[in-house]
Amino acid sequence: MISIFTTCPICGHENEIQVYPEDYLKWQAGALVQDAFPYLSADDREMLISGICPDCWDKMFNDEEAEEDEPDFEDDVDECGYDPYLGCYTEDC
Ligand SMILES: [Zn+2]
Repeated sequence: MISIFTTCPICGHENEIQVYPEDYLKWQAGALVQDAFPYLSADDREMLISGICPDCWDKMFNDEEAEEDEPDFEDDVDECGYDPYLGCYTEDC
């Protein structure tokens, strides 16, 4: 096994990923990460691609979830176009 070191662009943390040298050459030659290193976890593959560590992924993911909790006004509009704030603006109803 050889060690590949990646530096997370968000937190700056350096991570070590162990791979087989022949697989590393495959990857350098253009193979997809998941094809070259089928034994790595999704976290490890992501670190090879973007350098972003699992901790930062979690933070980013949690941020996105928090945003989805905000009220979405499109949900308040019926299919017929009825808007609870503005009233109906289609002739069908
Ligand atoms: Zn990080």
